[in-house]
Amino acid sequence: MDLWDIHHQGRINAASTEARHANSKASAVATDLVLMERRIDHLTLLCQSMWELLREQSGLSDKQLRAKIADVDTRDGRADGKIRNKIFPCPKCQANCHSSSQSCTMCGEDLKMHKPHLFQG
Ligand SMILES: [Zn+2]
Repeated sequence: MDLWDIHHQGRINAASTEARHANSKASAVATDLVLMERRIDHLTLLCQSMWELLREQSGLSDKQLRAKIADVDTRDGRADGKIRNKIFPCPKCQANCHSSSQSCTMCGEDLKMHKPHLFQG
């Protein structure tokens, strides 16, 4: 085996190792995706069941639910089917605050009442 062959064999070995790592990573991502799909299916089932109970008990309609979804969706300034964090002025000192913050970094004002949704950290 000459130097050229040794060099190429080294490159082939490195490529093989890289391919094994990529394959392993792809398998892990596929597993995560399956778990995430199960969680989404479970949450969808939970939301549908909760809505049906609420609709039956309260008399609210699907139309009212859709209007509320649209209302909540646009609270962050975009109708995109998502609730995003946003920047807003602190109610006490007007410093820019991030909606994921518990309190204003400048004055310490409690920001919990200014969050766009209850489930935000
Ligand atoms: Zn402040």
